[in-house]
Amino acid sequence: MTALLILALPMLLCVSCAAQTNDAANEEEFWIQRRQEMVEVLRRYEIGNPRVLAAMQAVRRHTFIPAAHRNRHTAYGDHPCPIGYDQTISQPFIVAYMTEKMSLREGEKVLEIGTGSGYQAAVLAEMGVEVYSIEIVPELAEHARRALASQGYDRVKVLTGDGYKGWPEHSPFDAIIVTCAPDQVPRALVDQLKDGGRMILPLGVGFQRLVILRKKGDRVEQEDDIGVRFVPMVKGK
Ligand code: SAH
Repeated sequence: MTALLILALPMLLCVSCAAQTNDAANEEEFWIQRRQEMVEVLRRYEIGNPRVLAAMQAVRRHTFIPAAHRNRHTAYGDHPCPIGYDQTISQPFIVAYMTEKMSLREGEKVLEIGTGSGYQAAVLAEMGVEVYSIEIVPELAEHARRALASQGYDRVKVLTGDGYKGWPEHSPFDAIIVTCAPDQVPRALVDQLKDGGRMILPLGVGFQRLVILRKKGDRVEQEDDIGVRFVPMVKGK
């Protein structure tokens, strides 16, 4: 009887291992399918850059939504999702759109303002650029660092601090993506752009517009783009 138990136990454990591996594989397949559907929606909205679409397919968006706010049915929907601290992870279309508008080349240096969940930073990392990101809420900065590291994006640098100041030690940047809305273009960020650099930001209080700036020598060209809705960029103390 004892011998039988000794023989049977490893077998039982193996069966339970296999079941767990299967569950994990099914779970991963579930999320891959959700991402494929999300990318189809992006194509329909005319996101055409194959590198952007590949990055959106690659990043496991659900893992950036804190567990307490994660929902199997809405994590990949085309709308923002709460991430705590009254903040949201941007809707997939906006993440893809802003990334596409920056025409990023591999190896470029990019600053993001408003790390939030870390999702946009991960999409940028998938585009092959060097990512620096600033978040003002310390708990979110910490969450984003952990989420990014757990997904292998450990080269993304996250600073807990005030985005209005930019990150002078790592400037100048080829591109700056602002994911919270200031009421005016932050001067320090324009100063930290390279000649030929570009910046995209939602501008305004209440009604906001995406604005694209291009620095050319000492001139800055401004192009107004689509209407959007972002959380406000708060003034640091
Ligand atoms: N890019 C994020 C979503 C941004 S939500 C993502 O992919 O999940 C906007 C974020 O901007 C919030 O986390 C908010 O705390 C942050 N924020 C607001 N004002 C800021 C400031 N002055 N400096 C840095 N971050 C700021």
